Amino acid sequence: MKTIPPLDLGRQYQVLQDEINQAVLAVLASCQYIGGPTVAQFERSFASYIGTPYCISCNSGTDALYLALRAYDIGPGDEVITSPFTFIATAEVISMVGATPVFVDIVPQTFNLDPQQVAKAITTRTKAIMPVHLFGQSADMTQLMAIAQAHSLPIVEDCAQATGARWNGQIVGSIGEIGCFSFYPSKNLGGYGDGGAITTHRADLAEKMRIVRDHGRQSGYIHEAVGMNSRLDAIQAAILEVKLRYLEGWNIQRQAIAQQYNQLLNGIPGIVLPSVWKEADSVWNQYTIRVTHAEALDYRESRRDRVRQGLLEKGVQSMVYYPLPLHRQPVYASLNYQIGQLPMADKAALEVLSLPMFPELTLVEQEQVRTSLKDVLLCC
Ligand SMILES: *Cc1c(COP(=O)(O)O)cnc(C)c1O
Repeated sequence: MKTIPPLDLGRQYQVLQDEINQAVLAVLASCQYIGGPTVAQFERSFASYIGTPYCISCNSGTDALYLALRAYDIGPGDEVITSPFTFIATAEVISMVGATPVFVDIVPQTFNLDPQQVAKAITTRTKAIMPVHLFGQSADMTQLMAIAQAHSLPIVEDCAQATGARWNGQIVGSIGEIGCFSFYPSKNLGGYGDGGAITTHRADLAEKMRIVRDHGRQSGYIHEAVGMNSRLDAIQAAILEVKLRYLEGWNIQRQAIAQQYNQLLNGIPGIVLPSVWKEADSVWNQYTIRVTHAEALDYRESRRDRVRQGLLEKGVQSMVYYPLPLHRQPVYASLNYQIGQLPMADKAALEVLSLPMFPELTLVEQEQVRTSLKDVLLCC
């Protein structure tokens, strides 16, 4: 029996090998490794894809989020409202600028930020709202934008897992004031190294982020702000330029695979299949089910972990995003959140299981996932 990986980047490279190798070799021959025409061209292509006048490329999704907060001069004494059910980077950047992350609970069906909870958490210190479009599905941008506008707060979208996702037909990263993207290899648009980008409609914010990204300077050796070095290198830009042309096609394949999973897994007891709101076009960075608990929640033991182990023994590799929500991470112990305080995030962390998902996953493999899951659930 073949092992099924959670994702397989090799299958994609095999198809694009000639095109990507050529693009990389052209950069090597150009001797323009940092900045230059390849990076500028990718920034134009990505801005045009997202539909914003400005795109600033940078070294990672984490840096994109950090630069966004710097654009608003957010710092000590300020609060930024975000999700506890996301990758650490989303909250980390809030701490990096010296502000305090305020975690509010998620909607159980989509795992995304709950707008009602966001509204309740706004204080005079709140400086921004950072929704995360988790697993490829947009957060409820209609409600979040209404709340943000009512309080004159900017929305910084964490689009790291959702390049190409839409809400009411509008692509994420163009809805709030700033969109932050990651090109980490496992994302829907992934490079062959680290990379990130920021999109915005606002010229003033774009200018500020460009300056901070490059040592606080416009050019030369006059430095007007405390900056950093966060550049996308030309080799990554060349690879991303090629891959961007395939992104919509891959996202459609992911949607077809998700539909197929929905059919194959429908009616299996003991699991809950993912929900997508009618306004959302998910790009399925993950296909994440819940392994539900028959008995009352016991935080010492998760049935999901037993199911995951059982799947592994049958050659199906699954992932847990995320086993510990951010409000209970050791790094945030000083914020004093208690277990059960954000009950939906706590429960999700015990139940979620992400099944293999990538555009090249075959029907035969999906059927093996179904058979294995059915078998394992019988005895877990
Ligand atoms: C991957 C990811 C990031 C960070 O991106 P990097 O490029 O790895 O720095 C931020 N937020 C979310 C939700 C992510 O999934």
